[in-house]
Amino acid sequence: MSNHAYSHPNMSRLSAERAKLEISKTQDLLHKTLGVENRWFAPPSGDFNQKTVDIASSMGLQTVLWTVDTVDWRKPSPDAVVAKIAKNTEAGTLILMHPTAASSGALKGMIQSIRAKGLVLGTVSETLSSERVNTSAVE
Ligand SMILES: [Zn+2]
Repeated sequence: MSNHAYSHPNMSRLSAERAKLEISKTQDLLHKTLGVENRWFAPPSGDFNQKTVDIASSMGLQTVLWTVDTVDWRKPSPDAVVAKIAKNTEAGTLILMHPTAASSGALKGMIQSIRAKGLVLGTVSETLSSERVNTSAVE
């Protein structure tokens, strides 16, 4: 779980004020709606510059990118999303998904396919922790 900005803008093109607002509105939402104390900012479309990183940092967030993209905004079938995740997920993979019908429909299958590989699902903080223990079985 990480902050992905409020309206999915290209962060590098925003004023500092607007960039802060994008991040703070989302932080407020995560906190008030889900009770999440988030520490991560994943810039929409992977678009960011040093100013973006500095602004996120000033708000207590580290900037992070994903390693596998569901590309769920293109409205693929849930089965196609599951197949992509099943093929590309390995230990340490960070999956990008949005609140879309594609990803919500694929969620159960994604979880099953990841567990079938002997991998353990975790949050961004858990996955990037130096204390992470690789419990996956090696074939
Ligand atoms: Zn996005």
